[in-house]
Amino acid sequence: MRSVDVVIVGASLAAAAAAKRLVDAGLETLVLERKELPRHKICSGILSPRGHRFLLENFGPLPRETLHEPTSCRGVTFHFPSMVSMPMDFFGGPTPHLHRKYSDYWAIQRSGAEVHDRTSFVGLEDRGGHVLVQARKQGEPVEYRARQVIGADGPSLPVVRALYPDYPKQIPWFFVGQKFHDIIDCPLSPDYFHFWFHPGLGHYTWSHARDGRQIVGVGFKRGDNFARKHQVVQRYLEEKHCVRLQPPDDDIEGCAENFGPSLINRYVFGKGNVLVTGQAAGFLNMIGEGMSCALHSGAISGEAVVEARLRNRPVQEIYRKMIASEVRRTTDQWNPLKIAFDKPHEADFPAALMELSWGDRAKVLRDMWRFVVLFKEFKWGRQIASAALQRPIIGGYSMRRWL
Ligand SMILES: Cc1cc2nc3c(=O)[nH]c(=O)nc-3n(C[C@H](O)[C@H](O)[C@H](O)COP(=O)(O)OP(=O)(O)OC[C@H]3O[C@@H](n4cnc5c(N)ncnc54)[C@H](O)[C@@H]3O)c2cc1C
Repeated sequence: MRSVDVVIVGASLAAAAAAKRLVDAGLETLVLERKELPRHKICSGILSPRGHRFLLENFGPLPRETLHEPTSCRGVTFHFPSMVSMPMDFFGGPTPHLHRKYSDYWAIQRSGAEVHDRTSFVGLEDRGGHVLVQARKQGEPVEYRARQVIGADGPSLPVVRALYPDYPKQIPWFFVGQKFHDIIDCPLSPDYFHFWFHPGLGHYTWSHARDGRQIVGVGFKRGDNFARKHQVVQRYLEEKHCVRLQPPDDDIEGCAENFGPSLINRYVFGKGNVLVTGQAAGFLNMIGEGMSCALHSGAISGEAVVEARLRNRPVQEIYRKMIASEVRRTTDQWNPLKIAFDKPHEADFPAALMELSWGDRAKVLRDMWRFVVLFKEFKWGRQIASAALQRPIIGGYSMRRWL
C-alpha cells in the first residue's frame, strides 16, 4: 500500500491549488483522478479577474493551448424578458477563456504533485492518526494511506458521500446542459458571456461563442427534459435576438450541479482528517462561476494542512478558521445588502444599471424579481435574509451552518 502525506481526490483547479501549497511545503502529495488526463470538463471557461490573478501568481502565464477562441472574455451581458440588455466589463480588463481540458492539466502538472489518473476514489476510513483510501485503477482495487485527505472532486461529491451518505438527498439538484451550433448569423457579441434572467427559459440560461460555434445552454431542476428546454431557448434566441443557428452538433454535454450551498451558507468542509474543498464544498459564485473560488478554497485547504502540522492542531479547526474568508467572498455575492451597498462582484452591476433610463431600470428590477421568484420552492429566501443580516453583526457568516 502506498503511504503519502496527503491524498487529493480529483485533478481539477481546486486540487491543483491545494497541491501547490502542499508540495511547496515539502509534503508528499498524491492526486487521484478518475478520468484519463488531460480530461474533458464541461464549463464555459469564463474566468473571473481574481481567478486569473491566482493562476498567474501560482502557475505562471497561461500557454496558448489552455485557451479557447475567442481567447478572452470582456465580461458578462445580462438579458431580460423586457428586452433590456446590460453589458458589464470585468474590472481590470478581459480575462482568458479557458479550455478546461488543457488548463486543468497544465495547472495540476505545474503544482508538482504526483498524479494517478484513471484511478477512481471509492471510499475511505479515517483511523484518527491516518486515513485509508480505497480506489479503483482501471477496475482493479488499490489502497492508499495518508495523514490527510482532501476531497476536490467537484459536484459528483464522492468524498462527501463517503462522509455523509445522506447529504445528496438533502439538497436540490440541478441539471445543466449545453449544445454546440454552427452559426448562420449571431448578433450576440462574441466578447461577452450572455446570461438570461428569464423565468420562462429556465433557472440558468446562457450562450457564448467558442471555437467558431455558438453554445446554447440551459439549467433547470433535475427531472425536466433537456432537449425540450434547449429547443425553447434556441427558438427564443432566434425570435428575440435574431440568432440563427444550425441544428446542434452531436457533442452534447450535461451534468448534475449542487447549486445552492453558497447562497445559504451551507458549506460542507468535511470531518476529522478529511477536508472538502472547491465546488464539492459548495463554492459557486454568482452566474455559476466556480473556478476562482475553487482555486482559492483549494489553496486554503492545502495551507490548512500545512498549518495544522506546524502547530500540531486538528486540521478541521484550522481549516474552518481559514476558509471563513473565502466563505465571506463567495456568499457576499449572493447577499442582497452587499449587492445593493457594496461591490461584491467583479463587474460593475450598479454602474451598468445607472447607465439605463429610469424606465429600463424599473423593468430590470421587476424582471430580476420575477426571476428570483422561480427559486421560491427551495425556501432559500429566509436563509439568505438571515445571513445578510448576520454579516454586519458578526463580520462574516455563521460557522455553525457548515457540515
Ligand atoms: C455548464 C457549466 C458551465 C460553467 N461555466 C463556468 C464558467 O464560465 N466560469 C467558472 O468559473 N465556472 C464555471 N462553471 C463551474 C466550474 O466548472 C466549477 O465550479 C469548477 O470546475 C469547480 O472546480 P473543482 O476543482 O472544485 O471541481 P471540478 O472542476 O468539478 O473537478 C473535479 C474533478 O474530480 C474528478 N473526480 C470526480 N469524482 C472522482 C472520483 N470518484 N475519483 C477521482 N476523481 C474524481 C473529476 O473527474 C474532476 O476532474 C461551469 C460549470 C458548468 C457545469
